[in-house]
Amino acid sequence: MLEISNLHATVADKPIIRGLDLVVPTGEVHAIMGPNGAGKSTLAYVLGGRPGYKVTDGSVSFDGADLLALEPHERAAAGLFLGFQYPVEIPGVSYLQFLRESLNAQRRSRGQEELSGGAFIKLAKEKAALLGMDAEMLKRPVNVGFSGGEKKRAEMVQMGIMDPKLAILDETDSGLDIDALKAVGKGINSIMRAPDKSVLLITHYQRLLDYVKPDRVHVLSAGKIVRSGGPELAHELEREGYAEVAA
Ligand code: ADP
Ligand code: MG
Repeated sequence: MLEISNLHATVADKPIIRGLDLVVPTGEVHAIMGPNGAGKSTLAYVLGGRPGYKVTDGSVSFDGADLLALEPHERAAAGLFLGFQYPVEIPGVSYLQFLRESLNAQRRSRGQEELSGGAFIKLAKEKAALLGMDAEMLKRPVNVGFSGGEKKRAEMVQMGIMDPKLAILDETDSGLDIDALKAVGKGINSIMRAPDKSVLLITHYQRLLDYVKPDRVHVLSAGKIVRSGGPELAHELEREGYAEVAA
């Protein structure tokens, strides 16, 4: 599904990703953990194609295609979903409008027919129910006045509607109480745990991994993967800290 090889990337001319190798096979959930400033969010942005993030070396193959050759919207249409550490607020645009526009833009670029208003509302309600979110909330402007937990649940609803092949979720667990954490975990499992989908879960706590059991855990430090292991590695990190494990 995702194959990153010798990736180097800079932000504002500063090298942040420095020789990163990572393979996420189809059907697997991989977690990336690591200290603050390691380059976790930068990696997510580089994969999403955010402007200002420059790849200086290496390659990324996504579902057999050269990901880095695609524009951000083409990456999304190809089935890449990026969940943000800090979801943006968009005053004046309702969440439902935003979701419907996003979905239909993707459908058009895949040569599929647009979803009618009725069919879309049905889909949105179904996904909101799955995440324990009142669909009425989606009539409000995107993320405006949403609590941290509501933003993350709404993002999971968005993921359910977009139905991506690969979800890269950056600190989806930050600022969540236990109920919201469970809801998000359940959302990831029910939407993305499938033989034809993969997840890259960026987190620095073990607790989300109690709900979303990863197949592999990687430690990102100073711009590269310094250790990989099974789910037990997350527990080891929690006990001993990054300094010990990444040394
Ligand atoms: P993490 O998500 O692992 O905490 P980040 O990817 O956010 O780390 O940041 C990695 C490094 O890149 C940090 O040293 C950070 O200060 C730097 N960095 C991130 N964004 C920018 C930017 N826009 N301009 C300059 N430096 C940046
Ligand atoms: Mg980050």
